[in-house]
Parts: sequence; structure tokens; C-alpha cells
Amino acid sequence: MTDTDDLAARIRQGERRALARAITLVESGRADHRARALDLLDALPPSDDTLRIGLSGTPGVGKSTFIESFGLMLTGMGKRVAVLAVDPSSARSGGSILGDKTRMERLSRDARAFIRPSPSQSELGGVARRTREVAQLCAAAGFDIVLIETVGVGQSETQVAKMTDLFLLLLAPAGGDELQGVKRGIMEIADIILVNKADGELRSQAMRTCADYAGALRLLRKRPQDPNGYPKAITVSALEAAGLEQAWTDIAALAEARRDSGWLARARADQAVHWFEEEVRQALLGRLRREPLKGTMAALADRVARGETPPAVAAQELLSVMLGAGEAPK
Ligand code: GDP
Repeated sequence: MTDTDDLAARIRQGERRALARAITLVESGRADHRARALDLLDALPPSDDTLRIGLSGTPGVGKSTFIESFGLMLTGMGKRVAVLAVDPSSARSGGSILGDKTRMERLSRDARAFIRPSPSQSELGGVARRTREVAQLCAAAGFDIVLIETVGVGQSETQVAKMTDLFLLLLAPAGGDELQGVKRGIMEIADIILVNKADGELRSQAMRTCADYAGALRLLRKRPQDPNGYPKAITVSALEAAGLEQAWTDIAALAEARRDSGWLARARADQAVHWFEEEVRQALLGRLRREPLKGTMAALADRVARGETPPAVAAQELLSVMLGAGEAPK
């Protein structure tokens, strides 16, 4: 048995230390680690049974509070829950704010839960690609639910939506004007909007906000794969753990409908192809940034700048060199 086979077997048995070690390999930038990570991913095909849920919301809306109480409810039901994060700010600063275990203290001590901070890497695409692989490892380790959290800025939601089965958007109670602040693109990927903080003085405001968003969702195109009533908006209180059962009922019903219709399998296949193409794109870009192509590219750019070679001709030359069909230009 090779080292990789052994690690894969231990992950399949749900051994946490093996999972943590595999995640370290997947997130590593070292070439030898990468080679082992690829062997491992190859040995651990994605599990059909794991439900992958995306969750987004701006800072302060209550994501960690929600994940803690929702996660505890799920583990209380006997489910195993992994929490991962795609955090564009960690891509920028090299440190992670999401996934900080002190934010989800009780859940992080729960034997049925596994919380993994966002990997710190140089670019969001890299962070997202690795997070997807980590989700695959968690699925292989037998987690029933993998929750992938992201902050509501930039491109991160779109990336997370391309690695999950359904998408939750957490919002705070708002005045009518603020409703405009939610970007249309985010509304379009949300399957269930959770208006959080529906408690105490904020309760009636939360109900109004929820009704407003429900109205806004009705104006968006209905997804033919989904049952009536979706996408939908409901109120929750993460703090008081209220509305969480309803949230889970709605999530499970949507997941089941998508599974039964065959839509989920097709969506997962499309996602896999998307990430295949993305890996190829990134690998090619990586080669362009290294010698000898980096030098060839600089030389060609020079010639283009001096007007000696048209851009399209230079590009063709570079591609010939890259594909091994040509000589590097002098
Ligand atoms: P995050 O930045 O999205 O992870 O938000 P946090 O979970 O850290 O919550 C931000 C603040 O909102 C904290 O002070 C929480 O106590 C508060 N908060 C979160 N959920 C609720 C809720 O359901 N009701 C109320 N009233 N406050 C909440």
C-alpha cells in the first residue's frame, strides 16, 4: 500500500488527522505536495451524498453566529458538518478573518463538526480552487454537509456558487433604501435568502425586509428545475436559534427536488468541467509567467511595441513556442 492509498483509506474512515494532513497537502504550494494532493484527489472521487451549501453575507450580518447555531442544530440531528471559507480578504492580506475558530467556539468543539479557515494565497481564484478540493476531501471523509462561507464582496460568491449545490444569502433587516444595496448578481445566485436578526426590536423590521426581498425575488426569472416557491426569503434569528428548522426544511426540500429531477447531477458535472477548464487556464498562465516563456513573451512584447511585429503574429509565435512547434524568437 502506498502512502497515498493509506492516507486515502484513513480519510474514508473519517479520521480527522488524516483529513487535516490531506488538506495541508492540497493547500500547499510545493510541487511535491501538489503531486501527492492530485494522487489523493484521484483516489477519492466526489461523493454524491454530501450536500454542498454556499453561504454569503457582508461582515456583521451574522454569518459566524448563524453557522454556529445552524451547525449545532445539524450536528444535534446526528449530521456531520464541515465548514470551509473562501475569503478574498485573506487572499489579499495573507491572514484569515473567516474561519477563525474563536468565532464558532461551540461548533469547533463539536465532534461531528470540522471547521477549516480559508487558505491564505495570493489570488482569489487559487483560494477558491483549493477550497473546492478541500470540500471534495470532506465529502470523502463522510461529512453530510459541507458549508462554504464567503463574504459578500467581489467575485467570491460566483466562485462559491460554482462549487456548491445551493446557495444561501444572509441579510440584515434594512430600511427600504438599503434594499438596492444588494447586487443583482448576488440575488440571482441566491436560492434562499435568510433575513437574520429577526428578534427583539429588529423583528418587525426583519419581517418587512423579508417581504420586500420575497417581492424582489418574484421579479427574477424562476429556475425551471426548482419547485414552486423558490427562490424564497425567510426570517431567522441566529442569536436565538429561531427559524433554523424552517431554514433546514427549505434547504432539504430544494436539494431533494434538484436531486430527484436529475438537475443536481448535471449541475455537478458542469461544475467539474468548469474547474477542469479553469485548471488548464491557470496552468497555461503559470507557464507564461516562468522561463523560458517569460523571456520569449518579453522579447515579443518589445517587438510589438516597436511596431516590428503585429500583435496577432507575435501571439501566434508565442503559442508555437509554447506548444513546442516553433523556435524561440531571437
Ligand atoms: P459576521 O461578520 O457575518 O460573521 O457576523 P457575526 O456573526 O460576527 O455577528 C455580528 C454581530 O451581529 C454580533 O454582534 C452578533 O452578536 C450579532 N448578531 C448575529 N446574529 C444575530 C441575531 O440573530 N440577532 C441579533 N440581534 N444579533 C445578531
